[in-house]
Amino acid sequence: MSYKVSYEAPRDMKEGEIVTFLQMLAKASPHAQTELYYTDTFSLLVAVVLSAQTTDMSVNKVTPALLALAPTPEAMVALGEEGIAACIRTIGLWRAKTRYLVRLSQQLLTNYGGEIPQTREALETLAGVGRKTANVVLSVAFGKPTVPVDTHVFRLANRSGLGRGRSVRAVEKALEKRIPESMKCISHHAMILHGRYVCKARKPECWRCVVQNICLFPCKEVNKKSD
Ligand code: SF4
Repeated sequence: MSYKVSYEAPRDMKEGEIVTFLQMLAKASPHAQTELYYTDTFSLLVAVVLSAQTTDMSVNKVTPALLALAPTPEAMVALGEEGIAACIRTIGLWRAKTRYLVRLSQQLLTNYGGEIPQTREALETLAGVGRKTANVVLSVAFGKPTVPVDTHVFRLANRSGLGRGRSVRAVEKALEKRIPESMKCISHHAMILHGRYVCKARKPECWRCVVQNICLFPCKEVNKKSD
């Protein structure tokens, strides 16, 4: 997958700049975590699968009811496509996601004893689970040092010079190589929140950005402008 890159940093940040940038982001959001509703690893996996090309807010509107009916892979299979569809019909791609939830629950029962596997390779064998979903589950549920790249991270990394690339995979590779192992988990959430609420797609709010002095984006919006 690829997102549009319009303007980007003229160079990659240096190692020291990356560490300072991420430390400042982490300090600004010390309790940064996923905004998806979940209660355990299975519900996290379900929520992340449902969040593909859909906002976390839309997903959070449907997951409590769905997970109350189907808190385990067994219950999800028993609920079946009709029951799942009735719960998630308001979110994008609900037909495909309905099929994914039944199929991945069956796969968990058949191949993994009902447990969520802890490797990217195994997670990626599950229906509806791509590389980004697998990385999110590995990072959030198991504390593994992965760097999931969504549209917010992709934009922030290219604009700031944290890790530039034309494709999601290229940015993921750059960030994996450049972000120190010990900073990956906290950086993941801090970058998503910063991209979502400050370094916005249409107009980054650089005037209130804590990393404004380190960011290499050449078109910073340093003056607050009304819409
Ligand atoms: S200074 Fe602007 S472009 Fe750079 S990270 Fe902050 S909001 Fe984004």
